[in-house]
Amino acid sequence: MYGGRGMSRGFMSEEEKKNSPKVTGALIKRIFGYLSPYKKQLALTVLCIGISSLCSMYPSVLTGRIIDEGLIGRSIPMLVKLILLSLGLTLGGNLIGVAESYLNAWIAQHITYDMRNQMFRHLERMSQRFFLTEKQGDLITRMTGDISGVESVITGTFTGLITNVSTLIIAIVAMFRKNALLALIGIAIVPLFTLPTRLAGKRRWSLTREAQKCDDEINGILNETLSVSGQLLVKLFGREEYEYERYKTANGNRTRLNIKERMAGRWFFVVLHTFTSIGPMLLYLVGGILMMKEGATLTVGDITVLVALLGRMYGPVNNLMNMQVEWIRAMAMFTRIFEYLDRKPDIENAPDARKTAGNSGEVRFEHVDFSYTEGRPILRDVTFDLKKGRSIAIVGPSGAGKSTVVNLIPRLWDVDAGRVLFEGEDVRKLDLNSLRQAIGVVTQETYLFNGTIRDNLLYAAPDATEEEMISACKRAHIWEMISARPEGLDTLVGNRGLKLSGGEKQRISIARVLLKDPALLIFDEATSALDSISESLIQEAIDPLIQERTSILIAHRLSTILAADEILVMEEGRIAERGTHEELVGRGGTYTRLYETQFRDPHAQKGE
Ligand code: ATP
Repeated sequence: MYGGRGMSRGFMSEEEKKNSPKVTGALIKRIFGYLSPYKKQLALTVLCIGISSLCSMYPSVLTGRIIDEGLIGRSIPMLVKLILLSLGLTLGGNLIGVAESYLNAWIAQHITYDMRNQMFRHLERMSQRFFLTEKQGDLITRMTGDISGVESVITGTFTGLITNVSTLIIAIVAMFRKNALLALIGIAIVPLFTLPTRLAGKRRWSLTREAQKCDDEINGILNETLSVSGQLLVKLFGREEYEYERYKTANGNRTRLNIKERMAGRWFFVVLHTFTSIGPMLLYLVGGILMMKEGATLTVGDITVLVALLGRMYGPVNNLMNMQVEWIRAMAMFTRIFEYLDRKPDIENAPDARKTAGNSGEVRFEHVDFSYTEGRPILRDVTFDLKKGRSIAIVGPSGAGKSTVVNLIPRLWDVDAGRVLFEGEDVRKLDLNSLRQAIGVVTQETYLFNGTIRDNLLYAAPDATEEEMISACKRAHIWEMISARPEGLDTLVGNRGLKLSGGEKQRISIARVLLKDPALLIFDEATSALDSISESLIQEAIDPLIQERTSILIAHRLSTILAADEILVMEEGRIAERGTHEELVGRGGTYTRLYETQFRDPHAQKGE
């Protein structure tokens, strides 16, 4: 079978040609940077390749002696000795080949291991913005496809290059040592051999592409005319003849292309065989003339060796020519990987970042402006102050910017203007790890890992004891449910916690935050409807927490709002009103409206 994928190895698609990377010294240096920890192993691999190439080539040279000294010299001991030597070398070469494969795989695996770790570490440091804008599929492709590609570059392209080059060098040196003139003739023939290979390859490649287009057309016609609705259309409009003609033409084109494709392959072999036999014939001819001249030192064995060596050169030359494409592909792959590694995380520790104490959890917003995308401001001039042990409820219509406000505190995003202060220091000057350690967030969409409840709790505090976990679960009002399960804390939560109800998940995440014991608690109340029992359990869990620590609540229910010391009412990214429930409810503003439509009696609205 010719064409298609097999041939694509040697030729690049138009798209690949267009996107060919710029190979610069810096790029090569960077790639070699990954190889440098394994210099010794690499040197050993190159040595192994050299020795095994030598071992596999030398029997060809020995053939000459077998003929001259063994056969023509009529010496059985010599014949046996040379044959055994030849067999021994072949075996030795193959054994070294095994060692080389092992080394090769070892190096390739270690380099991909290093690269994967580096990439993972780098991606972990990227900001929320990166993950929201980047296509998920691209990330996975970089991590799996591209980096695995590196492995085949090392085991294939890199060792292929060394093997082919060393085989060629050995063959050329051996040929020159036998006879310089014949060696030159032999080498001059090689390009003649590779030329038709490439021409035939190109022709087949373009035929394959043409055939592909033709197939698409045929499939289109079949789809249009032989589908349920298509055939109806054809019948109702009486277009049978027209469609038949259309199909017949496309089918005819495909048939012609099929024949051409087969024949391109056929010509290829004719040309190939002719060229491969021209070389040896020429060597026999010139070698024969030289040998028969008086005083010549050239022997029958020498000519046989030269012909054999020439035969050994075709493969490596052809491989090396194909390698150019593999090389460009490899460079493109490295370029893609490096582009990712060079993406600077837009939220990073400042060089002189200092750790925050994480004891008061105080927050201060000073004239904060923020937008996710340029030109579309989300927060405008937001200013508020949250003192130690106090709590603020943020309320407002959907999309007002409530979650955005809290996202700025653990620096999931950075402000455009103004400042966010945590415990008296601009968050951009704080060590990210210590900042995030001091903040506990119970998100609206609770994220649980696929594992047991215990795994999920320990994620927050890996050193927590059984007692601490049970106590946190009790305070989060989830212990009753956990202890009722036969597996207790070892109950599996399912993918993303889907085996639990929304209310249970949120209470587990409250327990998780309790174990973390943060200075500031952020509670993004679920907007989704929970039944009133779940709701009151969450309320009972959260109420004492709010009392005992600094907290910000994004509130959707009156009970949560009432538990806070101050209410911020947000509207279109601004703080529209602030105060206590009593102060705000009678004012007739946004809060009053929200109170009347949302907070007052949510269950009545749901028709309960
Ligand atoms: P809800 O009560 O529905 O959760 P909210 O008040 O918390 O709403 P935010 O999530 O802060 O609102 O969103 C404020 C605005 O910012 C919305 O208009 C939203 O579409 C937009 N927004 C949120 N996240 C992003 C993002 N990553 N990129 C661009 N725009 C965003």
